[in-house]
Amino acid sequence: MEKSYTEKQLRGIAEECQEFEHIINAMGYGYSLLNVSATDYVRRCTDCTHWLGGSCNIFQKEVSQWE
Ligand code: SF4
Repeated sequence: MEKSYTEKQLRGIAEECQEFEHIINAMGYGYSLLNVSATDYVRRCTDCTHWLGGSCNIFQKEVSQWE
């Protein structure tokens, strides 16, 4: 079962992360479909291509420092 994380963790880690890539952007549609500009939409790990159900190594490393 997927562990649940707080919104604060999901956003906080994504904001700091250099590897963030939005799943929609990665599909090749660009940021226009997100209805927000690339600079001001909310970055959240669960919307990242590297998330993989919470198994992202960077996320796991970061989140372990939150606890
Ligand atoms: S899912 Fe991983 S790669 Fe994506 S923003 Fe979060 S920590 Fe970074």
